Amino acid sequence: MLATETLSEPRTSVPVAIAHGDGIGPEIMEATLAVLQAAGAKIEPRPIEIGERVYRSGLSSGIGDEALETLSATRLLLKAPITTPQGGGYKSLNVTIRKMYGLYANVRPARAMAPFVPTLHPAMDMVIVRENEEDVYGGIEHRQTADVTQCLKLITRSGSERIVRYAFEYARAHGRKRVSCFTKDNIMKITDGLFHRVFTEIAREYPDIENEHLIVDIGAARLATQPERFDVVVLPNLYGDILSDIAAELCGSVGMAGSANIGDEIAMFEAIHGSAPDIAGQGIANPSGLLNAAVMLLGHVGQGTIAKRIQDAWLCTIEEGIHTRDIFGAQSSRCVGTADFASAVIERLGRAPQRLSSPEIGRCTLPEMHVDTQAATTPEKVRVGVDMFIDWNEGKPERLAERLLALDARPMKLAMITNRGTQVWPRASDSTRCVDHWRCRFQSDARVDGAAIARLMAAVEAVGLETIKCEGLYTFDGVPGFSLGQGQ
Ligand code: NAD
Repeated sequence: MLATETLSEPRTSVPVAIAHGDGIGPEIMEATLAVLQAAGAKIEPRPIEIGERVYRSGLSSGIGDEALETLSATRLLLKAPITTPQGGGYKSLNVTIRKMYGLYANVRPARAMAPFVPTLHPAMDMVIVRENEEDVYGGIEHRQTADVTQCLKLITRSGSERIVRYAFEYARAHGRKRVSCFTKDNIMKITDGLFHRVFTEIAREYPDIENEHLIVDIGAARLATQPERFDVVVLPNLYGDILSDIAAELCGSVGMAGSANIGDEIAMFEAIHGSAPDIAGQGIANPSGLLNAAVMLLGHVGQGTIAKRIQDAWLCTIEEGIHTRDIFGAQSSRCVGTADFASAVIERLGRAPQRLSSPEIGRCTLPEMHVDTQAATTPEKVRVGVDMFIDWNEGKPERLAERLLALDARPMKLAMITNRGTQVWPRASDSTRCVDHWRCRFQSDARVDGAAIARLMAAVEAVGLETIKCEGLYTFDGVPGFSLGQGQ
């Protein structure tokens, strides 16, 4: 399904939008482009301006129309890190680009370079595949009461299917043996439960690849202590964000790893580290992260042979102990700056590493992968009630229940009240600490129409209670699509 594309290299150059970024960005980009040019990479750089200067010029997204046009035309971006100015009002440029262009997969290889770069885990060699668009990254947050804030976590079947399938396809195409999935579905049974269920379903289609699921807490603990036991790890967005940084750090330096953000139309490649303002302008930054990102880009556009040539030369440089300051130590032979590191890589083009293995470099996109954005069958969806969230701070839950029981809620009945997810009515523990945020569940045995909910809401407001929001309760083919209460 997915070719590694090392035989037929394209003859013409591929236009690539190039963002030099902030801080150490321009230095490492210059070094990276020098290596690409020397290696004969068939790319045509199209510089774009993004980042701090654009933010400070008043564009809260950090990217202007001209840059967006270039990006839409090239559909490829090699991006140096940027600085997000401190203070409110600035949007994360990465999140903007990911969402605007549907870059649903973040692929981050994390491989130890032992013994040349010290690490406690010399055998680690994993790839983290992080879902990039969903989860709590929608930025849908609200302050609801004087005391309570919320952040919405969205997990979709189609998004989960796409990222999980991507992880299995990636594993198959890159000769990897196992895909591990971490979720917290013992607590978030509906959202993380969906991701886990989709993982189990899709894993059946890949009998040649082993699969396992771990609860994210034990999974993270094992990843931090025995990273060598993992191969490909697929994760919802937030866990992936955190664990991919841990994995990079375990390898020995944040300056080494590249990453790819893949969408159906557009792909963005970058180092995993930031703009390192503490060392900017000194010519000492390690360009390896961006260089490895560029290697992934070349593989992605079918220039796998050139990509491998660069990878080999880079591995030779690392093996010979020619190191930038961040990885310089007893195992190193020469401490070099950014430009000299690039020159050392260029001098070694055409050589193969002696001790470090150099895998083939394949595409990161899956051209034949197709995932429907709609569920294959539409389940029968029936509304059976509403969770009404009320801002109230006047005493014990029984008093609130009394006021709600006095209202005509037909065809629903007040079924329970919870506070921060803990049931406080009809049964309660005296020691539950209650805040000003009450979920009042009204439920029926039969279908409930919207008018009944609107009537109930009006009745609640009419007695001086404030409804913060109403969340419909639905069954799907008879199965409740809502949590049943704490711990269930
Ligand atoms: P950072 O990754 O920039 O730096 C963390 C530490 O690692 C610093 O000590 C730095 O000197 C070192 N380091 C990072 N890259 C290095 C390299 N290539 N060579 C040698 N040492 C290197 O993280 P930070 O300090 O938290 O963030 C600085 C800025 O970068 C912030 O404005 C942040 O918003 C931004 N940032 C951007 C991106 C991105 O553009 N993708 C990612 C992360 C952070």
